[in-house]
Amino acid sequence: MENRERIVILGAGESGTGAAILARQKGYDVFVSDAGRIKPFYREMLDDYHILYESGGHSERLILNATEVIKSPGIPESVPIMKAIRKKGIRIISEVEFAGRYTSAKKICITGSNGKTTTTSLIHHMMRKAGLNVGMAGNVGRSFAYLVATEAYDYYVLELSSFQLDGMYEFRADIAILLNITPDHLDRYDYNFQNYVDSKFRITQNLTEDQYFVFCSDVEITIKELEKIVSRAEQLPFAYQKKEKDVAWVENEELMRIEFEDVDFSMSVQELSLKGRHNTYNSMAAGIAGNVLKIRNEVIREALMDFQGVEHRLEMVLKVHGINFINDSKATNVNSTWYALESVKGKAIWIAGGVDKGNDYSELYNLVENKVKAIVCLGKDNQRIVRAFSGKVESIIETASMEEAVKAAYYLARDGETVLLSPACASFDLFESYEDRGRQFKAAVRNL
Ligand code: ADP
Repeated sequence: MENRERIVILGAGESGTGAAILARQKGYDVFVSDAGRIKPFYREMLDDYHILYESGGHSERLILNATEVIKSPGIPESVPIMKAIRKKGIRIISEVEFAGRYTSAKKICITGSNGKTTTTSLIHHMMRKAGLNVGMAGNVGRSFAYLVATEAYDYYVLELSSFQLDGMYEFRADIAILLNITPDHLDRYDYNFQNYVDSKFRITQNLTEDQYFVFCSDVEITIKELEKIVSRAEQLPFAYQKKEKDVAWVENEELMRIEFEDVDFSMSVQELSLKGRHNTYNSMAAGIAGNVLKIRNEVIREALMDFQGVEHRLEMVLKVHGINFINDSKATNVNSTWYALESVKGKAIWIAGGVDKGNDYSELYNLVENKVKAIVCLGKDNQRIVRAFSGKVESIIETASMEEAVKAAYYLARDGETVLLSPACASFDLFESYEDRGRQFKAAVRNL
């Protein structure tokens, strides 16, 4: 059936193209506008589906006549076209909101400042093992809209960033998971932390008593925020040490337990394939979701044991002469590096640096003094790191390429120690992306 309402999509990347294909399929008059270059892969897809588009700029006359605008998460509110659309009062939504209208599949949604991709992939792995017909989308893999247009899944596991949540209004998760909240992306939130917190809490919107809200009760800001809102969802909090209401926790630092309603699950932390305290949190969240979905205990246990992890997240690369090399290139903020250092057994040679987004390194002082033997700086400008850690470690050296950094770290490390790449910074000064940085690290380690 033709539907002549006009949908304009800003941005022709993964989410924009997916949204355009779904909108086209639903009979809308669709137009895509991208201020930059459109990658050939997406250009071809738009052509295949006979979707009109422009690149290299936004034409107001083709945009301001829209009934609704779908904005890609990478586009900030501050650009002129967004201001013009707002001024006209046109409704602006995200691709996830749009796609949610066209599926009745159950949605397991994961947000947080860190751990989203890991937990999303882990839950997806578990559900597939349980034989469920499940797709994974959002910030990982294909877009949700593309999968809704082209597949017929019964379940979706969705990784949701705060930018996606910002454009969500009617969308409702079936299981909403909030891992943690630490300051990030504040440049997009008027440097106001509360705005970012509000955005994360959108994951709870529209929940009724038939849905579940899974969250970490060790995160103070989450608890404080929960006092302010009324959520009718069934709350399933997890924590490292059990408090009154927690349904998952760790007993004596070694046994992960989940207990609610008729659920009684336990397994040794040693057996979890993902190591480190942060990953125990991620595993608890996944375990709770598995139980809500009534997946059998044996299947949950097996999934938590044999999950392969995600590339560039505390990824064990190789052991060379008794020295462990770990790639945590995705650690682009201080909080994720904290957990990486925390997870290291014995002494570490820490490779850090890159584009510093105004980091406060003091949170790391304790761990660094106790665990780090040497820091190998890898960035164009290392002054902030050098200043922050002078006198706190035996040596700090500066390098300007991955090969140089890995060689220096190898030279400094001894049998039983760990070389950890966990930069706490973005990668754009010396690398194309964090993936490029991680791949160069692995190549340099294999060349030793
Ligand atoms: P996201 O998708 O939220 O960016 P990832 O799963 O890609 O999260 O992990 C990003 C970084 O954060 C990695 O360095 C990883 O080791 C670390 N990390 C993973 N889970 C957590 C967590 N629960 N808390 C803090 N850091 C985490």
